[in-house]
Amino acid sequence: MNKYAIAIHGGAGTILKSSMTAEKEQLYTEGLKNAIAAGELILKNGGTSIDAVEKAVRSLEDNPLFNAGKGSVFSNSGKNEMDASIMNGQNLMAGAIAGVKNIKNPVSLAKAVMEKSEHVFLAGEGALEFAKFVGSEIENDAYFFEQMRFDQLEQAKLNDGVFLDHTPDKFENGEKKFGTVGAVALDIHGNLAAGTSTGGMTNKKFGRVGDSPIIGAGTYANNATCAISCTGHGEFFIRSVVAYDISCLMEYKGLSLKEACDLVVKNKLVNIGGEGGLIAIDSNGNIELPFNSEGMYRAKKNSDGELFVGIYGDSAITL
Ligand code: ASP
Repeated sequence: MNKYAIAIHGGAGTILKSSMTAEKEQLYTEGLKNAIAAGELILKNGGTSIDAVEKAVRSLEDNPLFNAGKGSVFSNSGKNEMDASIMNGQNLMAGAIAGVKNIKNPVSLAKAVMEKSEHVFLAGEGALEFAKFVGSEIENDAYFFEQMRFDQLEQAKLNDGVFLDHTPDKFENGEKKFGTVGAVALDIHGNLAAGTSTGGMTNKKFGRVGDSPIIGAGTYANNATCAISCTGHGEFFIRSVVAYDISCLMEYKGLSLKEACDLVVKNKLVNIGGEGGLIAIDSNGNIELPFNSEGMYRAKKNSDGELFVGIYGDSAITL
């Protein structure tokens, strides 16, 4: 059998072991393992990377621990306004949505945009109308209500700030976490795919949209190079066109996946103050999980059966 591989992330930021309880660590680890398993099942059975990415991201969207789908942060209006995108590296088809409310699985709506519309990017009310048209699962506001997220909004409003999930000095344990979820995969047919989904920033206003739904910034996939899903301070990732930059460095400069990822995440982004990380895979199944923050919820697995789960620095979580 040809090889397959998958990697996922659940956000990056100041994720310190000192501010994590054993219980919380266990829950995050389980959430990451479940998402990998959901995607791997598709790949193992000869399914496509695009389906594997969708399944893995849906699993994270359904888990209230992560800032996407059910666990999305609140915007200034007290709503959950979600962004997502997905891209198929085989044919460069892509779909994205921004600022949508009440959609249970934004990544699946992005996939529907890719597969069932003649467009790439739908936003706001129009995207919701399209969701109804294609029969996406819609949930009421109560489904998305998480007390912890609501408390974060209250704190953000008190400080008159716009926060990426948690911002240091503003929240109890000084934790800053960019909450977004994503997946990248290589299937046995040799095709790459990437997907990203997020609730964005707590207390965001004016229809703010980050990098996650922007093809080339937060998400990109091309069989000729790599598949990428980003997490971090979106404004910097948009300005650095991060995902496409990595692909370009491979395509035009002949850099390896690792060299391209290190240059962009540890050098170019750092130079402009862009904190965060990404997951990346190439057509040989090589995986990179670089970040320039304290930690990143991440996991990877390939057809050789190697499972890695990480949260902090460089070390793996003991499974
Ligand atoms: N990149 C996302 C955004 O700026 C946030 C994140 O990764 O947590 O909306």
